[in-house]
Amino acid sequence: MGDELLAGFTVDTNGAWMGRRAARLGLPVRARFVVGDSARDIRGALARALEVAEVVLVTGGLGPTGDDITREVVAEALRRPLRLDEALLEDLRTRWATWRGTPLPAGNERMCRVPEGALVLPNRVGTAPGLVLDVERRMVVLLPGVPAEMRGLFDEGVAPLLRERLGDRLLALVHRVFHTTGIAESSLAERIDAGLPEDVGPVSIAFLPRLTGVDVRLSARATPADPRAARGLDRVEALVEPILRRYRYPAESGDIVECIAAEMTSSGRTLAVAESCTGGLVSRRITELAGSSEYFLGGMVTYADEAKRAHLGISGELLARNGAVSEEVARAMAEGVARAFGADAGLAVTGVAGPGGGSAEKPVGTVWYAVHLDGRTRARRSIFPGARGAVRERSAQAVLALLYRKLRGR
Ligand code: AMP
Ligand code: MG
Repeated sequence: MGDELLAGFTVDTNGAWMGRRAARLGLPVRARFVVGDSARDIRGALARALEVAEVVLVTGGLGPTGDDITREVVAEALRRPLRLDEALLEDLRTRWATWRGTPLPAGNERMCRVPEGALVLPNRVGTAPGLVLDVERRMVVLLPGVPAEMRGLFDEGVAPLLRERLGDRLLALVHRVFHTTGIAESSLAERIDAGLPEDVGPVSIAFLPRLTGVDVRLSARATPADPRAARGLDRVEALVEPILRRYRYPAESGDIVECIAAEMTSSGRTLAVAESCTGGLVSRRITELAGSSEYFLGGMVTYADEAKRAHLGISGELLARNGAVSEEVARAMAEGVARAFGADAGLAVTGVAGPGGGSAEKPVGTVWYAVHLDGRTRARRSIFPGARGAVRERSAQAVLALLYRKLRGR
């Protein structure tokens, strides 16, 4: 199986899952090794893991097939002879007969072999049990590779054991996440660096860029009873809040549409959308959230000039004079769609998504977007980097962000 992970045919979701669970427990992951189905590589990874960590979680290779060699290799490396656990075998035979109605294939008996001194974690979902080995004040935990089995054993067997053994040494990571949009990662980092003192105590700051914006995550490690983490986070939050304020949107889900929906619904306003280069993406984002019918009346994909004329009432003369990707057309689209649907607010996007269609004056990535709200229309231009998909995602986010800022009176 390790071969599959290395070749990229299977993604190491177990590693990510265990990393998140361990961090939540207060046991940050120092290193992760992915190795193929080779005894030498498994031994090497185990040795290195034991050098850097007190707890080593191993997943995969406990099954019945020839490439499942983890149990044997680890037992040998730690000099723990394997012994057949008769009770385990009896239990597996019974369960197998109930599931399959056939006798247990001989290859499966191997899974009931237990290294000397190991604690057995019964696997109720599958066949191979988890195994816990104590190695000179360190712990090696072997878990099956099948995600559902690994997860079940971790939550039911491993997590309680780690809590019991490590107790007050576990330092849980406390996070606060702030979603921002409309500012580049580097600019945000520069401003935050300038606004914070050298020493921010136990708090660390991470910048997580996405196509739709940058999340800023403050974290601190502390035992639950220790008030220093919360105090440190409060202090840093107070310092970064004024810097983030203009760009921030407090969406639980990370999607700015959540904030727009709340504003639109509570004020009883309605919205319509006219899209060109985003081809419906803005409408899709809005309607992805349940409850959008409260305020969203509808949208139009007016791709051709003729469609902009026929459905949004934009004059051929305006289009000819300015081109479809222009401030004038974006404004006319936002106003036209609000009128067409009888909506309080109208959004519009028109741009050059690429890869073709760019010019010196309007290079690929040039996008005009507009928000018509409460009788006023604002338009903005951006030149977005990236391929077609990225330009479209960024355009949709930009017009949604402009609407949100205007709804908030910013
Ligand atoms: P194994 O026990 O290593 O033979 O793995 C059994 C099955 O579990 C594989 O066929 C994969 O589908 C899955 N699996 C194993 N390791 C991982 C992993 N690290 N991440 C996600 N799935 C895995
Ligand atoms: Mg296998």
